[in-house]
Amino acid sequence: MRKRAIVLGCTGSIGRNSLDVLAHLSDEWSVVGLAAGSRWEQLAQQANRFRPTAIAISSAGLQKETSKALAYPGEVLGGPDSMVRLLETVDCDCVICAVVGSQGLSAALRAVELGRRLALANKEALVIAGSLLVPLAQQSGAQIIPVDSEHSAIFQAMQAGRAAEVRAIYLTASGGPFRTWTQSEMDDITLDDALRHPTWQMGPKVTIDSASMMNKALEIVEARWLFDLRPEQIRVVVHPESIIHSIVEFCDGALIAQMGTPDMRTPIQYALTYPARRKCPSPSLNLLETCQLNLHPPDAERFPALRLGHEVAARGGTSGAVLNGANEAAVQLFRRGLIHFRDIARLTEQALHDHKFKAAPSLDDLLAADRWAREEVTRCLVS
Ligand code: MG
Repeated sequence: MRKRAIVLGCTGSIGRNSLDVLAHLSDEWSVVGLAAGSRWEQLAQQANRFRPTAIAISSAGLQKETSKALAYPGEVLGGPDSMVRLLETVDCDCVICAVVGSQGLSAALRAVELGRRLALANKEALVIAGSLLVPLAQQSGAQIIPVDSEHSAIFQAMQAGRAAEVRAIYLTASGGPFRTWTQSEMDDITLDDALRHPTWQMGPKVTIDSASMMNKALEIVEARWLFDLRPEQIRVVVHPESIIHSIVEFCDGALIAQMGTPDMRTPIQYALTYPARRKCPSPSLNLLETCQLNLHPPDAERFPALRLGHEVAARGGTSGAVLNGANEAAVQLFRRGLIHFRDIARLTEQALHDHKFKAAPSLDDLLAADRWAREEVTRCLVS
């Protein structure tokens, strides 16, 4: 029997790449569930192609249109909790969680509770609630396999030794479009500038996070939870070519790197096939053609967001929820032209320092901290 996959966030960049991989692996995998936020036409198109048992559309009021567009008798769930209900009604072997932002949290928690393998592209779930998600997985026996390219690389490199033998990890960062910009050039950054990523094709939110290097801050926190590391074991190195996806240093001084073309289909496929490997639709890397690999330390002065990652990884508690909530709100304001690019890191840092910290938060505490952070950032427009 073929293994069964559910793709949450199927119409986004990672979601579409996931379906590409699943189509390629169709001898081994079938798609039994799909979930999208509001792009119901694309969701219906994908469903008509893959014929999953059920699909979910989160935005209220779109269930009817979606049902009408289905060319086969699949079940259509609708409303904000439809993703979670999809997981509860359709049994599967792997949930690919590619929802953007904090909206993926409740589905990630439910998938882990149900003991499913979670191929996690949604780093926000770990940044906000790693303190709940990781113990829950240990209880239920669910595997959390990272899809984020750096963390997939670390996960792959870690197969070369034991967890206790890891000395440090190096998360690579492309440096984004402003890697070589001066402080004064960075005063005039526009939305178009921030959306122009030099090496990766990604959705707009993560592209802006890469430009501010907030993405790397979130990834430091993500790594802390995924690999149970101390903040000082997590290092960031700028690597403009995006060929080395990350590196693990073991206690004997050996550095194991995972390399390849910058194509998300490789980490998505590995999360499905682990511990096995299969031929992948992503183009392979010819090192005889691409022979220049540069590595250098990041500039913490031009990219103040970076240090917030280490701060939050050390502090834990509600700080991850505040980091993520404040950043999501600030990125939205920047996309609407209401704040400057530099304000994203400034407002996020401000929220982190002003919030009422709780060291051992419940899910409700985390959601409240997330809400507070968003409101706090939006309040800056009024004051
Ligand atoms: Mg990444």
